[in-house]
Amino acid sequence: MLRWRGLPRIRVRNTLGNRLEDFEPLLPGVVRMYVCGPTVYDYMHIGHARTYVAFDAIKRYLVLRGYNVIHVQNITDIDDKIINRAREEGVDWREIVDRYSRDYFEMLRSLGIRVHIHPRVTEHIAEIIEFIKGLIEKGHAYVAPSGSVYFDVTTYPHYGELSGRFHPEQWRQEEDVLREKRHPFDFALWKAWKPGEPYWESPWGRGRPGWHIECSVMSSRYLGEQFDIHGGGQDLVFPHHENERAQSEAFFGKRPWVKYWLHTGYLTISGEKMSKSLGNIIPANEAIRKWGAERLRLWLLSAHYRTQLDYSEEALEQAGAVLERLRGAAEEAGKLLREAEPEPGLRGETLAAVQGIVDSLYGFHEAMSNDFNTSKALAAVMEAVRLFNREVVPRESFTGAAFMYTLLEQFDAVFNVLGGALGPARRAAEEAGLVEPLLQLIVDVRTELRRRKIYDLADEIRSRLAGLGVQLLDYPGGRTVWRLRRGG
Ligand code: AMP
Ligand code: ZN
Repeated sequence: MLRWRGLPRIRVRNTLGNRLEDFEPLLPGVVRMYVCGPTVYDYMHIGHARTYVAFDAIKRYLVLRGYNVIHVQNITDIDDKIINRAREEGVDWREIVDRYSRDYFEMLRSLGIRVHIHPRVTEHIAEIIEFIKGLIEKGHAYVAPSGSVYFDVTTYPHYGELSGRFHPEQWRQEEDVLREKRHPFDFALWKAWKPGEPYWESPWGRGRPGWHIECSVMSSRYLGEQFDIHGGGQDLVFPHHENERAQSEAFFGKRPWVKYWLHTGYLTISGEKMSKSLGNIIPANEAIRKWGAERLRLWLLSAHYRTQLDYSEEALEQAGAVLERLRGAAEEAGKLLREAEPEPGLRGETLAAVQGIVDSLYGFHEAMSNDFNTSKALAAVMEAVRLFNREVVPRESFTGAAFMYTLLEQFDAVFNVLGGALGPARRAAEEAGLVEPLLQLIVDVRTELRRRKIYDLADEIRSRLAGLGVQLLDYPGGRTVWRLRRGG
C-alpha cells in the first residue's frame, strides 16, 4: 500500500519579531513581493546573485504552491556612489547607470530570474516629492536649514522594532548633527543640492531623494499600500528597512505595511562578506561564464537563504557533481518513461522504492515549506536520486520513473537547474542545434532540383518530410520555408 500525506502549510521566518509564522498573504492567492535591487555603480558580484537567486527560488516555490506572485525589484539609479563614480571617470552619471544596469539585467537573464517590474528612482521623482510633502503635512518630517528634509523618528512609536537598533538613551547629541537634524536617528528624505550634483526642483529647493524613500514610494505604487513580502540582504535591515517601514506606516497610517520581512545571509569569501569596498568580489557574469548559470544557481541554493554561504572553487566543483547526478537521473527517468513497460501492479522492493521517492517528494515540500529551506529540499531530492539509481533503474520500473520525474519537475520548478535534462525537452534542445542546418540543407537541395525541373524528386522529398512532420511551404519566386508540425 502507498502512504500519502498532505502538503505542509508554508511558514516563514519574519525578521520582524524573528518568529516562524504561518504564511497567509493579504489577498487570497496573490503574493506581492518587493526586493531591494542594486545601486548601479559597479558590476554585479555573486553576493548580489545570492540574494536575487534566493528570492527567485522563494517566488518559484510560492508559484508551485499555486500563488500568483508579483515581483518588483527596484534599481537605485541616483546615489552618492553613482555620482562619485561618474566624477572619478569624468563621465555623466547616466552613463554609469546605463553600463551597470545592463550588467545587472544580463545577470538576471542568465540566471533565469524574471522580475515583473524594475522601477527606477529617477522616473518616480514626482511621486517621491508628493510622499515627502505628505509626511511633512502629517507632522512626521521637517525641513532643515540646509533645505534637506528629514524624517522625525520620534513621531513613529515603532521605530527600532525591526532591527532592534534604536536606543534613545544612547544617543550622542553631537553638535554638528543636531544643527541639521533634531535627533541622531532622523534620516534624510530629501537631500539639498550641492554644486556639481544632479538635482531636481522641489518645494524645498533643488535636491535629490534620500535613499530609503524610493522603496516606500515605488513599492506602494506598484504593489499597494500594504504588501506581503519585503526582501533584501541582511545588511539592509538597518537602517534601510527600518526607515522604509517607519516612513511608510507613518504615511499610510496602516499596519503592517509589510507582512513578512525576509533577509538573506551574506555570501562570504574566506569568511568575509563579499563587497566592493573590501575588494574581494567575483563578478557575477564572469562566474556565470566560468561555471554556468545552472551550477551557480544550484550552489547558491545549496544553503538556506538566511545562513552565510562561503565561496570556494571546491564548493562549485562539488555543485557540478551534484548537478550531473541530478541530470543523469532526469535523463534516465525520461528514458524509462519512454521505453519501460508500465507494471500492472507494485510489490516488494519496487513498491518500497516508489514509497521512498514519494516520501522524498514530501520531504522536499516539508523543507521548502519550512522557511524555504532549499538546502534540506536538495538533500531530500538527492536521497530520492540514490534510491532511484539503486532500486528503480535496475528494475526498469515505469512507476518508479514516473514518481522520480514528478519529483524532479517540482524540484526544477524551484531550482531551475536541469536545463532541459527532463525527458523530451532535453532531446529537443540537443537536436535543435542540428535540425535547423540539416533541414535547410535538404530544402536547398530541393530548391536546386526544382530549378533544374527535376520535379518528381523534389515532390518525393516534400512528401517524405511531411511524413516526418516537416511541412514545406513553397512561395512564388522559388523560396521555400520549412515548419515543424510536432505535437508536444
Ligand atoms: P547593493 O549593491 O549594496 O545596493 O546591494 C543590492 C542587494 O544585494 C542588497 O539586497 C544587498 O543586501 C545584496 N548584497 C550585496 N552584497 C551581498 C553579499 N555579499 N551577500 C548577500 N547579499 C548581498
Ligand atoms: Zn530598498
